[in-house]
Amino acid sequence: MTTYQPDTTRHPADAAAQIAAVYSRNGARPWPSARPRIVIIGAGFGGINAARTLAGKNVDVLMIDRNNYHGFWPLLYQVATAGLEPESVAYPVRAIVRSFNNVSFMMAEVTSINFSAKIIHTSTIPLPYDYLIIAAGSANNYFGNNALAEHTYSLKDINDAERLRNRVLSNFEYAVSEQNPDIRRRLLTLVIVGGGPTGVELAGAFIELIRHVLVRDYPMLDISEARVVLVEASDRVLAVFPEGLRQSALRRLQEMGVEVRLKTQVAAVDATSVTFADGSTLETDTVVWAAGVRSAHLADSIGLKLARGARVPVEPTLNLAEYPDVFVVGDMAYLEGYKPGVAYPMVAPVAIQMAERAAKNIVATTRRRPMQPFRYFDKGNMATIGRRGAVLDSFGIRLTGYLAWFGWLVVHLLSLVGFRNRVIVLLNWAYSYFTYDRGVRLITGLKPNSSIDRV
Ligand SMILES: Cc1cc2nc3c(=O)[nH]c(=O)nc-3n(C[C@H](O)[C@H](O)[C@H](O)COP(=O)(O)OP(=O)(O)OC[C@H]3O[C@@H](n4cnc5c(N)ncnc54)[C@H](O)[C@@H]3O)c2cc1C
Repeated sequence: MTTYQPDTTRHPADAAAQIAAVYSRNGARPWPSARPRIVIIGAGFGGINAARTLAGKNVDVLMIDRNNYHGFWPLLYQVATAGLEPESVAYPVRAIVRSFNNVSFMMAEVTSINFSAKIIHTSTIPLPYDYLIIAAGSANNYFGNNALAEHTYSLKDINDAERLRNRVLSNFEYAVSEQNPDIRRRLLTLVIVGGGPTGVELAGAFIELIRHVLVRDYPMLDISEARVVLVEASDRVLAVFPEGLRQSALRRLQEMGVEVRLKTQVAAVDATSVTFADGSTLETDTVVWAAGVRSAHLADSIGLKLARGARVPVEPTLNLAEYPDVFVVGDMAYLEGYKPGVAYPMVAPVAIQMAERAAKNIVATTRRRPMQPFRYFDKGNMATIGRRGAVLDSFGIRLTGYLAWFGWLVVHLLSLVGFRNRVIVLLNWAYSYFTYDRGVRLITGLKPNSSIDRV
């Protein structure tokens, strides 16, 4: 496969035309434009909401993303666990921006930024900007342990979710003909590292997939050999929730059949096992890393001093102290104030609200008005545990069980971008709810090798 390479040998006038074409959807707007040019890096929760806020304002906006879709990550675990098809948690960026007449889109990877020259370097053409909003999200944090990165599965985007689904389903297929009981158990053991919302939601959904669906698909397997082990270094799961909800979540996971190992640290992972800090090992073919998150890798290549989690420190107005025309929002931004000395968490509502504030501050600056500091309106937290369980902590209301799950369902359905996606997700959920089935049990793309071939 060849990658698109722009023709960099062109005359400067052609380069200007190329830039104008990118900025202006119908090519009609001249370049340099009389209006401020705002580039938004990332079409995630932050980027899309920044564009929405800037729509119709007297500025030209260009959004850049390495993918041509906006991903709704809170439902990604359902793609990994065969509950939803990948297309239903993603939406084409162009379909979103086409209703904003001053916003255009370019698919490209941003590789570096020259803040002094106000130029963004991308996998296609370099682009000038007047104002910049960086919203490139997050990446897994392996804390410098390359073996973790090499031997674990992650859940950060659609490719990850499909890879994990393919791995788990393939292992069940390989287990059918495996005569060695040790290898068979290894194939059927899934270890999830990290007891935060992603780890808990994945563990709950995988155990249900195994106990309600795969048990019927594989009558020849002894399903009691299949294990989902959730490993957490601290003494609790869902640390951001109050004690009562944490206990309830733990109990629910255990009742469903998830083996929860608290106060257990992972020391090493290889192709067929995980070793814990106390020296014990667990034979497994599939380890999911949900124990560390950091800012997107773009942060490493923009020459700024980074804070905890490689996040970019910003002023309360969300711009950089050194380059006030550059704003950083969402998972990439480091701003304390959530609690004294604590940075705002890497969650969607923070990204959405930061993006709106950054966009409004840019508009204020273009009108020579003062910028406003970021204020967070905290709507609370929620996480699902299986098909009908959840914990919800919102505006002082603490719920567990069916009611919390229903609240989670409504909020997520309404937050999804695109009517088609909402309908498809609702239909999938209703189908799974009433039949206990999962429609997307497909092993697609390249088949993962059996671990037997790999050792
Ligand atoms: C599996 C999972 C489950 C989650 N569940 C929840 C939840 O239930 N509730 C909640 O509030 N939050 C949840 N989150 C966190 C939430 O998704 C993030 O906080 C939110 O997406 C942050 O928004 P953002 O705009 O900063 O980044 P993102 O939404 O991640 O968007 C970043 C965008 O930047 C693009 N990008 C990255 N690097 C480059 C580059 N170099 N060049 C071009 N484009 C680039 C990416 O393709 C992506 O589209 C979850 C996250 C994950 C991964």
